[in-house]
Amino acid sequence: MNCPTCNRPTTRRVLSEYEDDLIGIGMPVVLVNSVVEVSCEACGVAEREIPDFDGLVAAVAVSRAMHPFKLRGEELRFLRKAMEVSGKELADVIGVTPETMSRWENNRDPITPAMEKLIRLMVIARLGEKVPAMDFDPKEVADMRILSVCQDSAKPQMCFERVKVRVRPHRTEPHWDRRLSDAAAA
Ligand SMILES: [Zn+2]
Repeated sequence: MNCPTCNRPTTRRVLSEYEDDLIGIGMPVVLVNSVVEVSCEACGVAEREIPDFDGLVAAVAVSRAMHPFKLRGEELRFLRKAMEVSGKELADVIGVTPETMSRWENNRDPITPAMEKLIRLMVIARLGEKVPAMDFDPKEVADMRILSVCQDSAKPQMCFERVKVRVRPHRTEPHWDRRLSDAAAA
């Protein structure tokens, strides 16, 4: 591919680590060995390509649903959007008013623990199949005690990598997997 500005050849490299608040909820996501940077030596224009953004949103949502930290309003809104439902639809399904849902998402009222657990289980049920590389157990959410005290050391570590998943005996596909290494803590 050539540079769109000067039409000289560009170089591509895979970034060993890329960190960004990609989903705009104040929670940095680290992507390991997955983001491709395209740059031009002449004009230095660099573009970053994040593969399978949809799958990444599902991976972040499932990871967050599995983490026992109480959801902030903006995180609840992110999970709802990741499930592709409106505030009114989600409110209907769980039996609260749209006004209540809106107050939760705007941090005006805390989400009740039972409803929070239900929403987390919905996230796992609806998005789990989009993250076949990830290891998660819905029972952990069912038995989860949601933590209300915010400690920095217990913050969700959002670090992901593309891995190959066997889909048929002779076929593999890349999917997002959670990376639970020291790289996330660094
Ligand atoms: Zn150029």
